[in-house]
Amino acid sequence: MANFVLKVPSNLRTFSVSAASSNGPSPGVPQSQSGGPVIVELPIDKIRRPLMRTRANDPGKVQELMDSIRQIGLQVPIDVLEVDGVYYGFSGCHRYEAHQRLGLPTIRCKVRRGTQETLRHHLR
Ligand code: ADP
Repeated sequence: MANFVLKVPSNLRTFSVSAASSNGPSPGVPQSQSGGPVIVELPIDKIRRPLMRTRANDPGKVQELMDSIRQIGLQVPIDVLEVDGVYYGFSGCHRYEAHQRLGLPTIRCKVRRGTQETLRHHLR
């Protein structure tokens, strides 16, 4: 499946991307032409993390990732679900926290679209 990378300036607080698709994409949501996932830099504060308070990260892992990301950058994007224009992250918790602690404004994400039903499934 083809992915494409979309660079969003790191100082951008709000952003919009428009793309045409026969499935009728939400305004402002990046879409691949195939409807598959896209790789995009998203502002950290645009990603909701509903399970954040129930799952503790390993501080040692976070520190190692911080050191590595500082040196070589994020090598594997985190998975993000987009539902009705809202972004949700359920995994990639250590990478997300490492970015937060490094004070990075954006994080590279692999975004796939889902429905409210998909979201409910993740929250179960
Ligand atoms: P997470 O909760 O973020 O998934 P894990 O410790 O389970 O944390 O996995 C870390 C992941 O981060 C691995 O899949 C690894 O390939 C990926 N990764 C991406 N960028 C880096 C990097 N710069 N240094 C180390 N691991 C990285």
